[in-house]
Amino acid sequence: MKIFKIGDSKQAMCETCGSLQRATFALRDVPLSDGSGVVKSVLVGVCDQCDNVSLLPHQSTPVVQKQLLSQRKPVESRLPAHMIDILNLAALAVGGSTDFIQSLMKYYIFTLVSDQNAAKTLSRFLSSDLAKGRAEKRLSLKGRRLYDDVDTLKAITDIDNTTDLIKGVILKIHDDLLVKKKPKPLEQLKNIAAAMA
Ligand SMILES: [Zn+2]
Repeated sequence: MKIFKIGDSKQAMCETCGSLQRATFALRDVPLSDGSGVVKSVLVGVCDQCDNVSLLPHQSTPVVQKQLLSQRKPVESRLPAHMIDILNLAALAVGGSTDFIQSLMKYYIFTLVSDQNAAKTLSRFLSSDLAKGRAEKRLSLKGRRLYDDVDTLKAITDIDNTTDLIKGVILKIHDDLLVKKKPKPLEQLKNIAAAMA
């Protein structure tokens, strides 16, 4: 892979000109193609002929992807304090630190989306005693596909409220990992935690 510097130039197809033109690399603020925002000060090829951006070099794609990810809204919920304790204990049970909570939740949300029978059991956890308690803590989850997965899971489970859905997932984690100590999710999560440690 060639790394370009500011001021380097290269032939590139310019969509604006509709022809092959010389492009010079420079830092520009670039709007995202889906209109969701602007990536500030990223190295791009600028057409010498029309001054429009004609080229996004490979070296700039990580910055663009990071921007796309940071623009996704986190999935926010306010929870009773003991729910966070459950997640901390579950993270510990698979050899992870409290930082592993994000991955643990994403693992569960992702696997529940593909296991509808398991997903349909979430609502029954919401009537348990552990579902009660004043919302004292905030849980903020972020991920590339998390927003879509949460929506899918809401549709499968008929739980419309995000906080209720997150509570259901946490109580399922409690039941699987801390009460029943199910080998399959425990093993898989141990592998993931080890890879991230
Ligand atoms: Zn051009």
